[in-house]
Amino acid sequence: MATSGTLSTFRLPPLPTIREIIKLFRLQAAKQLSQNFLLDLKLTDKIVRKAGNLTDAYVYEVGPGPGGITRSILNANVAELLVVEKDSRFIPGLQMLSDAAPGKLKIVHGDVLTFKIERAFPESLKRQWEDDPPNIHIIGNLPFNVSTPLIIKWLENVSCRDGPFVYGRTRMTLTFQKEVAERLTANTGSKQRSRLSVMAQYLCDVQHILTIPGQAFVPKPEVDVGVVRFIPLVRPRIEQPFKLVEKVVQNAFQFRRKYCYRGLGMLFPEIQRVESTGKLLELADVDPTLQPSQLSVSHFKSLCDVYRKMCDEDPHLFAYNFREELKKKKSKNQGKEDAKERERL
Ligand code: SAM
Repeated sequence: MATSGTLSTFRLPPLPTIREIIKLFRLQAAKQLSQNFLLDLKLTDKIVRKAGNLTDAYVYEVGPGPGGITRSILNANVAELLVVEKDSRFIPGLQMLSDAAPGKLKIVHGDVLTFKIERAFPESLKRQWEDDPPNIHIIGNLPFNVSTPLIIKWLENVSCRDGPFVYGRTRMTLTFQKEVAERLTANTGSKQRSRLSVMAQYLCDVQHILTIPGQAFVPKPEVDVGVVRFIPLVRPRIEQPFKLVEKVVQNAFQFRRKYCYRGLGMLFPEIQRVESTGKLLELADVDPTLQPSQLSVSHFKSLCDVYRKMCDEDPHLFAYNFREELKKKKSKNQGKEDAKERERL
């Protein structure tokens, strides 16, 4: 199916505009699904160009909706485009695009959170992890409430080299609320530095490549939108299981404005908290008075490596959850109060 990009250049034939498609198929944006559409094909072309050279590429577009980005991808001379769309109202419009690009566009009516991409593209595209990325790209403008859980899921997939990353270091270009895009790419010490910054940056090269003003969307969302490109690293900056890194990072950012030892202390049961937190920070050579936002990925690497050793020494430690301990303590105290009350009666 792949065409030789240099010899034949594919262009879609003249088609109704996206605005006309929306009217024709009555595709009013569903507010409850946070649908905001891009109608300006110059802008969708720009997003697609920012994703990189797509000549002969296999592209997975998530949430194509009325098909603006879809058209730009098809015009980028790709070998194949697979789109997954949850809202059935968009399927006829996408079918029209498929007819205009024979053999290039595959449409799946499904949910990107459960769709299995790992068998969708030819085996021959697979690359070794250490090689250049495969000629496969993920592109999407999803609702914000889907894109954040999805990127966490895909980062875990990067760490396990499964899902879209069975093919190798598949590149992703995705939109987020601008504030989230800034968090994903925030440097150590910056105001936006958060759990997402560390989780994304320990696994990928992450770049905020474009900001799109809210006015560019119909209907206009409350916020501007950031386009972020992710390229999985050959060697993750932290070589520990994803869930372990996630736990350490999540706890560290528990109390954003306090010294980091406060949040990191929550990794340990109350009875050993002071001693174990001291040991963790000392062995990892991390200053306990740094704020979470001042911790670099290499600080987190040391913290995760030491915490891993502590978990290996104490098999119950990893399962420890301070919230559960707090809950048990509260219900025990409540039990005591109730007993006292009964005595008084
Ligand atoms: N890509 C189009 C554009 O830029 O104009 C539409 C963007 S709109 C913000 C998000 C699209 O993702 C909608 O078409 C919506 O139905 C679709 N969508 C939402 N959740 C989805 C999911 N879990 N799986 C697949 N598609 C989803």
